[in-house]
Order: sequence, then C-alpha cells, then structure tokens
Amino acid sequence: QAKELGRDRVVVFNDAMQLRASARLDIESQLGRALDRDELRVVYQPIVDVANERVMGFEALVRWEHPDRGWLSPAEFIPVAEETGMILLIGEWVLGEALAQLQRWRREVPGAAELSMAVNLSTRQLRDTQFVQVVAETLDRTGIDPGAVHLEVTESMVMGDVDLAVRNLVSLRALGVRLSIDDFGTGYSSLGYLQKLPVHLLKIDRSFIDGLGGDDPHAAAIVGAIVALARDLNLGVIGEGVESAAQLAELHRLGTAQGQGFLWSTPLRPTDVPGWLREHNEQLV
Ligand code: C2E
Ligand code: MG
Ligand code: MG
Ligand code: MG
Repeated sequence: QAKELGRDRVVVFNDAMQLRASARLDIESQLGRALDRDELRVVYQPIVDVANERVMGFEALVRWEHPDRGWLSPAEFIPVAEETGMILLIGEWVLGEALAQLQRWRREVPGAAELSMAVNLSTRQLRDTQFVQVVAETLDRTGIDPGAVHLEVTESMVMGDVDLAVRNLVSLRALGVRLSIDDFGTGYSSLGYLQKLPVHLLKIDRSFIDGLGGDDPHAAAIVGAIVALARDLNLGVIGEGVESAAQLAELHRLGTAQGQGFLWSTPLRPTDVPGWLREHNEQLV
C-alpha cells in the first residue's frame, strides 16, 4: 500500500510539474505579443528625502495586464523574458515609457520639474552592446537630462563577465546618467566588486530595513555599516521597503539620505501620481 501511495504521489508531482511547465510556456508565447497588444504597464513608486520627506523622484516598475490572469508582477514574467531575450525589447519600452512620463509630469505637474526617474536593468541589457546607444537615443527623444535618470543594477547582474558589465557601466556613466546598485547587501562579494563599479548610489535591500525599529539589533548595525561605507566611497544611499515610522526614524538616525516604501506609497498608476504628489506636498507644509 505504501508503494501505491508512493506511486500516486509521483503522479501528482508530475502533474504539478507539467502544469508549471505549461503555464511557463503560456507566459513565454503570450509575452511575445504583450508589447504589440499594449498589455504592459509601468507603475511608479515615490522615493523621498528621509530628512524632510520631500519627493526626490520615482522608480518605474513594470506590470503585465494579462487579458485572462489580471495584473502580473515582474517576478512572474521578467525571468522568462530574460531567458528568451524578450527583456531587451521590454526593457527598452519601459525606459522610453518612464522617461516620456517623467517629461509630461515635469511640464504639467506643479513641483515636478526636478524629479528623477529610476529604471531597473536586466543582465541581458547590461551585456548588450547596443544598450548604451538605446539609452542615448531615449534621452534625446524624451528630452530628459541624463542626471535625472537612475539606472539600477544588482551585484549578481555584474558577475559572470565583470569586465563587459563594467565597460558598459562606464559608458553609461559617461552619458551622464546615474547608476545604482539595487538590493545592496544581498549579492556576493559586495565589497570587492564595489571598488570596480562606477556607481553613484546604493539601495539597501528591504531585508535589512525590515529589522529596523524592531527587536533586531543586527539590522541597525548592518544599515549603519552600509551608510558609513557609502559615505567613505562618496555614494548616495536609499533604504528600500520602508513600511513604518519607526523604520524611518532609524534610517534618519543612521544617516540614510533617501527612502522608498509602503510608508509613503505603493507603486502608483501614472494617472494617480499627480494627485498623490499634490496631497503629499500639502501634508509637508
Ligand atoms: P526592486 O527593483 O528591488 O523593486 C522594489 C520592489 O519592492 C518592488 O516590487 C516594490 O513594489 C517592492 N516594495 C517597495 N516598497 C515596499 C515595501 O515597503 N514593502 C514591501 N514588502 N515591498 C515593497 P515589484 O514591483 O514586484 O518588483 C520586483 C522586482 O522586479 C524589482 O525589484 C526589480 O528587480 C524587478 N523589476 C521591476 N520592474 C522591472 C523592469 O522594468 N525591468 C527589470 N529588468 N526588472 C524589473
Ligand atoms: Mg529597483
Ligand atoms: Mg530592490
Ligand atoms: Mg530587485
């Protein structure tokens, strides 16, 4: 009987695997059409100055408004897009969309003229020989000054072919855009690579912010160490995933310059941004 149970279990396991594999195939084939069918969306999460809570800019985060499955998070399709190479087209689209959107806000929304826009890159983009040209053309087309654009990479994206990645980062930096390390502290050899990477900003991973203002004394020690490191290397620091006033107070005490998280807002649809900005700015004065 145990044998039979065992066999059943194997069958169930195979079914589940098959289901997963076919869901993945669906995503793969449908993602190819998502851009043409105008199903991708960009949502925007504010990034604020920790000292006075003024909005400094936004991070662009992609979503897929799937016709049957509703809004899909990047975790559900970015890895597939990365594997198939679709990410190059998607990434180029997100960058263009985000910078065009920033330009509209800068022109039309009071107080938005100085805002910056952060955009996430993928490994493939960072290794693509055309990518620097794509960024240059997008800046030209949208009329956004390069200094207002923050391109986010992770440490793991750089690994593999470090020289190629660094060469592209150097070229991007020469365009005048700013470079951030996303999810900082979760990659390997952070400190060794940091020296080589021509970046401007560290975004402290949410997992470290999580423990702040609570009962985890290590979290404050780690965040404090990252802030000190950033100061010595002349880099800016952003705390990611700030959810509580206690975490904000800790970030302020530890000297983190900027913050991003649900405390201020979840990622917003573009139509909701002007109203959110107005209300937020009214609360400040
Ligand atoms: P990320 O760049 O580290 O973005 C931050 C993620 O944390 C976002 O998830 C955001 O919604 C979430 N978040 C922000 N504040 C809080 C908070 O206070 N609490 C909690 N629990 N979560 C918070 P999202 O939008 O699901 O994006 C996940 C990841 O997908 C991003 O992580 C980024 O690595 C990737 N991604 C998003 N958009 C793009 C894109 O256009 N291109 C590429 N290549 N990757 C993207
Ligand atoms: Mg990011
Ligand atoms: Mg992050
Ligand atoms: Mg990330």
